[in-house]
Amino acid sequence: MALKEYRRKRNFQKTPEPAGQAKTSKGGRRFVVQKHDASRLHYDFRLELDGVLKSWAVPKGPGTDPKAKSLAVEVEDHPLDYADFEGTIPQGQYGGGTVMVWDQGTWEPEGDAAKALRQGKLNFELHGQKLHGHWTLVRMAEREKDRGHNNWLLIKRSDSGSAATNGKAHRGEDRSVVSGRTMDEI
Ligand code: MN
Repeated sequence: MALKEYRRKRNFQKTPEPAGQAKTSKGGRRFVVQKHDASRLHYDFRLELDGVLKSWAVPKGPGTDPKAKSLAVEVEDHPLDYADFEGTIPQGQYGGGTVMVWDQGTWEPEGDAAKALRQGKLNFELHGQKLHGHWTLVRMAEREKDRGHNNWLLIKRSDSGSAATNGKAHRGEDRSVVSGRTMDEI
């Protein structure tokens, strides 16, 4: 049921993306950040929870400066298999464009993650190749014109994983953490 919306939007005869099954991965909770050159370039931030990837589209990518707040628009759950998807979605298909696995690793919630998301504030720690340390996702108050959209803020909390030692240094490289390829090479 959780993946109904994901499947409804896609034609798996035409896109190389996985159709996926809801399941649980072994060895901890995964997270992935995918750089996606769709009609607008954005980063997809995904956290494994209850057999699916909870997903947010982050237009500017995760900021590693503790003072920076990145808009994160909640989108449909994706299958766990999606965490390994890197490739090109054909033009004309949903989300057509290149997808790179920009970062990947495991994450740990502080407390009950499902409850925290329902309540609109999740504190967690990332153990990625580019992103590390403590982060918060907080749901923004719903405005009339935004009804039906779930806007969140993704915030880096101050710790040793912030700006100086984090993503910034890697951002210059801007290559896939699984294949080492650039967007053009994918
Ligand atoms: Mn996307």
